[in-house]
Amino acid sequence: MDILKELEVFRRRDIPYSRVLGSMCTIPHPIAVEAHKMFIETNLGDPGIFRGTADLEKRLVRFLGEILHHPNAEGYICSGGTEANIQAIRSFRNLRKVDRPNIVVPKSAHFSFDKIGDLLCIEVRKAELDDEFRVDSTSLESLIDDRTVGIVGIAGTTELGQVDPIDELSKIAVEYGVDLHVDAAFGGLVIPFMDRNIDFDFKLEGVSTITVDPHKMGMATIPAGGILFRDESYPGSLEVKTPYLTSRSQWTLTGTRPGTGVASAYAVLKHLGFKGMKKIVRHCLKMTKIVKEEMESLGFEPVIEPVMNVVCFKTEHAEEIKEELMKREWIISTIPNPKAIRLVLMPHVTEDVITNFISEIKNVLVTLNVRPK
Ligand code: PLP
Repeated sequence: MDILKELEVFRRRDIPYSRVLGSMCTIPHPIAVEAHKMFIETNLGDPGIFRGTADLEKRLVRFLGEILHHPNAEGYICSGGTEANIQAIRSFRNLRKVDRPNIVVPKSAHFSFDKIGDLLCIEVRKAELDDEFRVDSTSLESLIDDRTVGIVGIAGTTELGQVDPIDELSKIAVEYGVDLHVDAAFGGLVIPFMDRNIDFDFKLEGVSTITVDPHKMGMATIPAGGILFRDESYPGSLEVKTPYLTSRSQWTLTGTRPGTGVASAYAVLKHLGFKGMKKIVRHCLKMTKIVKEEMESLGFEPVIEPVMNVVCFKTEHAEEIKEELMKREWIISTIPNPKAIRLVLMPHVTEDVITNFISEIKNVLVTLNVRPK
């Protein structure tokens, strides 16, 4: 009992999600928590023991594949978007086998691509963005050469929630005969449920692999990232023999890995269905609209018109505002270029949260004695 009390002391110091507007994670759905508990001891690194869990993972991959227009995609549930991106690029590199390989990513790519460059010994070339912070496909195309093993587009950028012109990138990928990875870690479980139609997935013939993370908008318990491959040649290129396990080989990056993310992600998608997910996304977009209007009425200007449930507001005082909010135990984030504060309106953000946040930000502006811009 004393130990639990000790743990409680640490846990109480964590900031509750009701004061977090700067994270792409959220409170897991109650059904996810139940599912997580049921699968707490499972290890997908040994699928011969956890046969049921392994089959459930196949079902979940099929589910995600259906959402992304390719029910027969290969894939698995991993630790998150970072691992998913690593595995996609690693498969491109292994399949191409060129000396001094490179990939071309948008300047807006998540920092996991810098880790990828280092880990995989690949040059990471960064393409310019247009005025709307979408990758400029002409710039991206100009960086491709005969050592390019893949190109990357982002569906839901980390900073702005922007979507690159994946249809144009798909055409480039086909024309140059290179693989295209779509990092839809965030947008993969937003875009399919929006009223607006945006093509970004396996529907486009040039798309080889997609990152889609249930532990972000899928409300699964952490960790639950996802990587989907168009066909088995991609994961096949990652395969190693596993002599002492119940399986013969594996193509995952980690060995021991939890089944909890599989169970929780599956439970949420099955429980909510397409309609339920649409409702969640509609809620998040509504909260984005409300917060945008409230911030505009205070004099803030958004960097771009929000595409999904991420919105940034230009301000020279971004860091000071973030720090002052942090002192008051509110979490937001900032972006450097242009200087702006960034809000992510995840499912845990309600109108009450926004009301409290807006009154706090008014106080912060008074305390700092600054104007929004
Ligand atoms: N890709 C994108 C677009 C992201 O926004 C993130 C994280 O926010 C990642 C990849 C990395 O995901 P993770 O933190 O789950 O490794």
